[in-house]
Amino acid sequence: MTNTVTVMGLGLMGTALAEAFLKNGHATTVWNRSAHKADALVAKGATRADTAGDAIAAGPLVVLCLSVNENVREVLTAAGDTLAGRVIVNLTNGTPRQARELAELVTARGGEYVDGGIMAVPPMISQPEALILYSGSRRAFDTYEHQLGSLGTAQYVGTDPGLAALYDLGLLSAMYGMFAGYYQAIALLRTEGVKASESTPMVHSWVTAMMAGLPRQAEHIDSGDYLTDVSSLTNNAAGFPNLIEASREQGVSPELLIPFQALLDRAVAEGHGADGLARLVELLSTGAR
Ligand code: NDP
Repeated sequence: MTNTVTVMGLGLMGTALAEAFLKNGHATTVWNRSAHKADALVAKGATRADTAGDAIAAGPLVVLCLSVNENVREVLTAAGDTLAGRVIVNLTNGTPRQARELAELVTARGGEYVDGGIMAVPPMISQPEALILYSGSRRAFDTYEHQLGSLGTAQYVGTDPGLAALYDLGLLSAMYGMFAGYYQAIALLRTEGVKASESTPMVHSWVTAMMAGLPRQAEHIDSGDYLTDVSSLTNNAAGFPNLIEASREQGVSPELLIPFQALLDRAVAEGHGADGLARLVELLSTGAR
């Protein structure tokens, strides 16, 4: 019985999840709002559920992967009593608050809730490189860890249902910051005809070398001692306008750079000029502005 799974939401990611379950020998029931997206999976051996209620009723483990959590709320609310005795694993991207609210909804109807954050793109699903973070009901995670392991490396991060989303969004913040820097670099370099394929290996090496310094920065952050003998905020704040000026002069928008300059300037204005860049974590931690 525990070798069965239901997947609800067969978009790019949900389809990859259902395929991974099938590939690993799990009896898989699938449902999608637009029914035709189930056809290829049914041809590969999945069972089609005609309604969301039928999908949830099909087995004890139900994995959802819809666009946003508002869609999940709608589907689960309509499901009513069928949630009783079910384990709902929600892999839709969302916020910690949304995850906690969905956990309340599911547990109030007699189900168990696990939230998840997928740190992968569809082609990575089922490979060990696909990290999937889970939080919420420990009992439910332990019971279905084997099935969930079909999707990639399953890592449980805590009983608070919001934690997986928190980790997910934290890691995505790092990813978007890295992409933002990469796009700025490429836009700048190609103003002089340097092709992205030429400059990318150099950018990659540079960013990799800089990332080696992250554990040292973590020590500063955890100790609260930000005094640096490497590179001061004063020097960074003084040099950063060159990035903005050069971008403008080369016809590239500095819109991604301007907020970072403001943060550097604020750190210096608040008396932290002798500290290293990791001090910026403290400025970001002072609340939404
Ligand atoms: P898609 O746009 O490909 O699929 C969206 C899915 O949500 C479809 O199955 C769609 O059904 C369904 N859906 C949307 N609105 C509703 C609704 N009101 N009721 C029922 N079902 C609805 O998105 P992805 O598969 O790419 O992404 C799904 C989730 O996975 C997102 O939260 C995304 O952030 C997350 N994710 C995606 C990654 C990726 O690389 N693709 C990576 C990591 C996370 P229909 O077919 O009927 O429109």
